[in-house]
Amino acid sequence: MSSAPASPSNKESLAKPSNFLRQVIERDLEQGTYAQRQWGGTPGDAAHHQQGTPDPAKIRTRFPPEPNGYLHVGHAKSICLNFGLARDYGGICHLRFDDTNPEKEEIEYVEGIKDVVHWLGFGWDANGTSHLYQASDYFDFMYRAAEYLIEAGHAYVDEQTPEQMRINRGDFSRPGVDSPYRSRSIDENLTRFREMRDGKLTDGAAVLRAKIDMASPNINLRDPTIYRIKHAEHHNTGNKWCIYPMYTYAHPIEDALENITHSICTLEFEDQRPFYDWLLDRLAEGGLINTPHPRQYEFARLNLTYVVTSKRKLRQLVDEGHVDGWDDPRMPTIVGLRRRGYTPESLQLFAERIGVSKADSWIDYSILEGALRDDLDPKAARAMAVLDPVKLVITNWDDLHGAGFLDACSAPVHPHAPERGKREFQFGRELWIERTDYEDTPPKGFFRLFPGNKVRLKYGHVIECTGATRDANGTLVEVQAKLVPDTKSGTPGADAIKVKGNITWVSVADGVQAEVRLYDRLFSVPQPGTGEKDFLEELNPGSLKVVTAYVEPSAAAARSGDSLQFERHGYFTPDRAAANGGITFNRVTGLKDSWGK
Ligand code: ATP
Ligand code: MG
Repeated sequence: MSSAPASPSNKESLAKPSNFLRQVIERDLEQGTYAQRQWGGTPGDAAHHQQGTPDPAKIRTRFPPEPNGYLHVGHAKSICLNFGLARDYGGICHLRFDDTNPEKEEIEYVEGIKDVVHWLGFGWDANGTSHLYQASDYFDFMYRAAEYLIEAGHAYVDEQTPEQMRINRGDFSRPGVDSPYRSRSIDENLTRFREMRDGKLTDGAAVLRAKIDMASPNINLRDPTIYRIKHAEHHNTGNKWCIYPMYTYAHPIEDALENITHSICTLEFEDQRPFYDWLLDRLAEGGLINTPHPRQYEFARLNLTYVVTSKRKLRQLVDEGHVDGWDDPRMPTIVGLRRRGYTPESLQLFAERIGVSKADSWIDYSILEGALRDDLDPKAARAMAVLDPVKLVITNWDDLHGAGFLDACSAPVHPHAPERGKREFQFGRELWIERTDYEDTPPKGFFRLFPGNKVRLKYGHVIECTGATRDANGTLVEVQAKLVPDTKSGTPGADAIKVKGNITWVSVADGVQAEVRLYDRLFSVPQPGTGEKDFLEELNPGSLKVVTAYVEPSAAAARSGDSLQFERHGYFTPDRAAANGGITFNRVTGLKDSWGK
């Protein structure tokens, strides 16, 4: 068997840490497990694919969201995994909307999901073909497959009550009991199933069950339900159907029709794998689906500390107003992370670092932030911002330079990328500095402003503090200092005066006022909702703090999607305009990990 030469992307993949999924795929490629398969150009049954051409995709994976909410960071892991594996191994990843449940889907979510997959850096077009599919397009085939199972003696219509069915299923210690309907004739089953389809029966009156083994130690094999009656309109098929396939029946068929090779899902589906294989083996025997059929592989879902990753809980946070919508920057939704200032590259890096495993675990939020910092550090333009401003007055400025004089200063856009140029700002008589940069009486180790001490205003001049003014409540309202002449950064002799403190500032003359949103963890415990308390009681009441800051002109010019590093403070990104129309920033993350503290 010949193996294709490694493509550049294939070589790149070799540098990535291996994992059990990569090993499975590499083994399948080596053994040519799927090498003989045909592809009919679109999803379809065995006959459709057999008249096609050799499948141009070496492997096919899929990301199959149910369009019933916004995607979260766990889905990002799954997207990066499925699209990433297809990219690395010469394959194609399908985006498939799993819309077989008539009651839950909403069109709004479909667009949202397409959007974030693109934003994350992936797409479903390959060789001029769009691989965007919806499971409800396969209802006709699913129905045909169900009739086939009945005809082959592998399925029957059960009319026990749901309660009887539950009792007769047994449990871990008790085998199940056969339904009295289990021995119906094929003809009777077919007639009854068609009556179900034709709307002759009410919801819950009957179900179609696979006929497998009521004594199986795996309860999922005790004649699982594959079709149920539901008189409900479907967003795609309207009122055509009043019976709908169960997820566990629909999903393997969707994979098979789409020529999926590696069907990757989370661990809770491990017990379903025997049914996945049973069903596809039966349909392959009947010549209904292409072979070899897809295989299911399970990995541990992502649990991230200090947030919740369940659509239901996220919806509750939104619906009950605990957060400001699905894209609230504190939310672990992809739209929330995006608005917060996360980049697609940082989420891809995160997904790569956490890898995939077979064991459930909690990933520390600091790993997500670490990936973000590593991505932003080389990219983010630097700027100065004062988040808790107090005025500093240079009392000898007018004597030295004349009233109203402004001294042009500059600093590199990025300290390690001189080619990115310089940013310009003015130094004048009045400046904004951080309130915490002044102390009347310095504690040990404090090298910033206190009477008699000299510090450098970064990229500006050295000053000597002379005093400060407080109001009746003792609140600091102004700090005073004198400029030390001939100390301007970058001029000859500027370093003649040695100082221990170096502080950031923004001048009153050209600083721009901005609303800055400082976020903290959304929940105050690492594993919300896993203990005695309801997860809502574990929300962090201090997860959002809004301050009025001043930023240098270059920062005020930043646009949506730009990443900035405010020196000393962390990474920030512009957000939607404030209520008063002013500019706003979100703090993406601090400069250092503070989660452990
Ligand atoms: P939720 O439980 O939050 O509603 P879900 O599994 O019902 O999520 P789907 O839309 O069915 O949401 O998920 C689409 C894909 O994303 C599935 O293949 C699922 O395995 C995967 N996925 C969902 N949550 C996670 C997670 N926390 N970590 C990794 N993959 C996930
Ligand atoms: Mg699901």
